[in-house]
Amino acid sequence: MVGCFFEADAQWRSHHEGPRKTAFVRRSVRALASDLAALGIPLLVRKVPWFADAPAAIVELMQETGATHLQFAAEYPLNEVKRDRSVWRAVTGIGRQCTRHEGSVVLRPGQLLTNAGRPFTVFTPFKRRWISALSAATLEVVPSPEPQGEAIAPLSVCWDEAAEADDTAIWPAGSHAARKQLDRFCLEALQRYQKDRDFPGVEGTSRLSPHLAAGTISPRQVLNAVGLDGPIESSAYVNELVWRDFYRHVIAAFPHVSRGGSFHPHYDHLRWEQNPSGLEAWKSGQTGYPLVDAAMRQLTSTGWMHNRLRMVAAMFLCKHLLIDWREGERFFMEQLVDADFAANNGGWQWSASTGTDAAPYFRVFNPELQGQRFDPEGTFTRRMVPELKEVPDRFLFNPLKAGLTLNYPRPIIDHGMARQRAIDRYRNSQPNRSD
Ligand SMILES: Cc1cc2nc3c(=O)[nH]c(=O)nc-3n(C[C@H](O)[C@H](O)[C@H](O)COP(=O)(O)OP(=O)(O)OC[C@H]3O[C@@H](n4cnc5c(N)ncnc54)[C@H](O)[C@@H]3O)c2cc1C
Repeated sequence: MVGCFFEADAQWRSHHEGPRKTAFVRRSVRALASDLAALGIPLLVRKVPWFADAPAAIVELMQETGATHLQFAAEYPLNEVKRDRSVWRAVTGIGRQCTRHEGSVVLRPGQLLTNAGRPFTVFTPFKRRWISALSAATLEVVPSPEPQGEAIAPLSVCWDEAAEADDTAIWPAGSHAARKQLDRFCLEALQRYQKDRDFPGVEGTSRLSPHLAAGTISPRQVLNAVGLDGPIESSAYVNELVWRDFYRHVIAAFPHVSRGGSFHPHYDHLRWEQNPSGLEAWKSGQTGYPLVDAAMRQLTSTGWMHNRLRMVAAMFLCKHLLIDWREGERFFMEQLVDADFAANNGGWQWSASTGTDAAPYFRVFNPELQGQRFDPEGTFTRRMVPELKEVPDRFLFNPLKAGLTLNYPRPIIDHGMARQRAIDRYRNSQPNRSD
């Protein structure tokens, strides 16, 4: 047996995956190389810049090593689906066996359909069907390989470590680190997840997203660890794993989403603002809205953002600033260590009200109220925006009212005006307007 990792750096760049995610993946590959070496199994790393190069490279490798059977985990964005199909054809075409595993989902896209035989576009009925389809077989995890001899030295992987984003301390990579993180979460935070999960100042979520996105742990492994003892319907944590599967089922069933389209195509005609200075203020955490700025600074300084903040920051961009959600989607992909096309696109289209089962267009989060509600003591916001350290709690999310001289921008847009403008603009792009 040999393991093989194909690095498609040009393709990843074209998907806007940034240096943090790439460095995390590379560190994960190094960890995998040493895990496999301990079992006497070499891991080969090949550069295939584009997915289109993969079939020929795999065939060549199988011929070179005499391998008779290829096993891989399927992925669901459009280009990945095309790649997997071509690899399958190429490998079976030379008479070798090919097996695909569902490593990135709990239930395979295409497996769950409505009573009318269509893909689900609404989360709650999807979740009901998802739970009823769970079985011992769907929760099976592919076992680790057996040792095939004495331990060997891991092959050195020729990446320039010095040039990589060094997040080792905040994002330890590899399957052992993932397991450790999962065990810690189950022990320390799972019981309080429902209560704590919305508060960015509390370590209340699992932070497993970089591992789930890179494949160093699978959602089935996570579900087996957290979900199966209590009533699964009411588990807030399992609910998030279902959202994760839901968005994968959506992109697999509706390929226009992978081509940059709004899930509801009429929103492709919505008129967005051209506002480069607003976009720049948003990216750099200088909007004058403390919770939005804290969120964006968490993203750019750590490569991760709390889920509540992802919704607040995303909605601010596409509702307050009326900037095309695709600008934000791309920036998140570039910055996130857990960049994941399905979850990111789903989250952006939810926030922009253009997606499946999205927030209704007239829902516009008020960043001041969101701050008061989800960071009531300002622990998180003051950590990320130290300019506001001295501002008393009651003015923290509207610091202008404090009457202090601060090295912090005034709000770049008025909330009330922006909310009304967004509602009007969205209303005008509804397909069945009678006026
Ligand atoms: C605008 C926007 C962009 C997002 N971009 C990404 C992204 O690129 N990559 C990513 O993994 N998640 C993304 N999410 C979903 C979610 O914010 C993160 O998965 C979550 O914050 C990761 O932290 P955690 O592992 O502690 O989550 P936990 O709360 O511990 O959840 C466990 C796991 O469930 C999955 N999950 C949780 N919430 C969601 C959700 N709303 N949608 C889909 N899956 C979910 C993740 O895999 C997560 O690791 C995005 C959400 C929004 C609103």
